[in-house]
Amino acid sequence: MDRDKILLTPGPLTTTLRTKIAMLRDWGSWDADFNAVTARLRQSLLKIIHGEETHVVVPLQGSGTFSVEAAVATLVPKGGHVLVMDNGAYCKRAARLTTLMGRTCTVMGFDEAEQVSPAALDEKLGADKTITHVMLIHCETGAGVHNPLQAVADVCARHGKGLIVDAMSSFAALPIDAREVKFDALIAASGKCLEGVPGMGFVFIRKAILDGCAGQSQSLAMDLHDQYTYMEKTGQWRFTPPTHVVVALAEAVKQFEEEGGQPARLARYTKNYQTLIHGMARLGFMPFLDPSIQAPIIVTFHAPGDARYDFKSFYAAARSRGFILYPGKLTQVETFRVGCIGAIGSDEMEQAVQAVALALEDMGIASGEPAI
Ligand SMILES: *Cc1c(COP(=O)(O)O)cnc(C)c1O
Repeated sequence: MDRDKILLTPGPLTTTLRTKIAMLRDWGSWDADFNAVTARLRQSLLKIIHGEETHVVVPLQGSGTFSVEAAVATLVPKGGHVLVMDNGAYCKRAARLTTLMGRTCTVMGFDEAEQVSPAALDEKLGADKTITHVMLIHCETGAGVHNPLQAVADVCARHGKGLIVDAMSSFAALPIDAREVKFDALIAASGKCLEGVPGMGFVFIRKAILDGCAGQSQSLAMDLHDQYTYMEKTGQWRFTPPTHVVVALAEAVKQFEEEGGQPARLARYTKNYQTLIHGMARLGFMPFLDPSIQAPIIVTFHAPGDARYDFKSFYAAARSRGFILYPGKLTQVETFRVGCIGAIGSDEMEQAVQAVALALEDMGIASGEPAI
């Protein structure tokens, strides 16, 4: 059957027909019509974080990681020192790209089942005066932890340190208000909670630090200051833009606004999340995280303890019912993940639970109960 499968992953996500249809046209990258789409899109993105007064937004071609790398290269001077608060796989990726770009990087490790600690950060910044920037992953997509953005931002502000936030999987779903949370850069992408298609990221940069970023990037393609300056001057992207991705995102943002913006999106995802965990609990499954630190974005479940379980067969059995699950990304325990985001509602989540029930039946497993 040729119906699209429902993507219960952290991206790419299930998109609406309207968003897909927006991609059925060709656009000239230098054309005024396309430039107007880019300009409108940038305005809408700034509005989502109430950043019109304080920040600019710079889009960049590529997947989300390209924009994280670009933000570090553009914001952190070559002699800078980045402290990465690490409670998962995406934190480790941020630390690795920072090191590869030749910036001094210190990793502050936390348990992947816990939030990062603003108090520990406070102590660290008091002890090590060489740190210039702090990097935080807002929603650690590895396990699904909702990290305390406001508290971390407050500590950074008190110590006068720059804060770089990877808000890839939280932006447009969890509240972020640039008037209240002080950050130098915040990164997100087209193919996550805005429900566009993957292919571009965007970075909000604080206006007050923008001029100081000139010439800091050692990479031409990743230089956000250069991208910004060129875009302001010409209205165009510096190099070939992902035109279809841009128009699809513009259409997705229109639907986001029609739905009621961030609060409405969070409400829908929260309902998806509740439908999922209640349904999975009926089947015996246990979530990995304490609900108090769980973001309603992606849920990590313990694998069933039954010896007949293996992820590949489980995945294939759920897939044959039309649902794409996601492998776990934890180092210690056997898990799998289920996303709550994308153009789906609680009906689809109920059906996903049903698909999981049938997958267990296929495998001869009576319950999703973990071994622990
Ligand atoms: C999705 C995601 C990214 C970007 O991953 P790409 O595969 O490059 O799109 C970065 N950080 C977090 C927290 C994410 O969820």
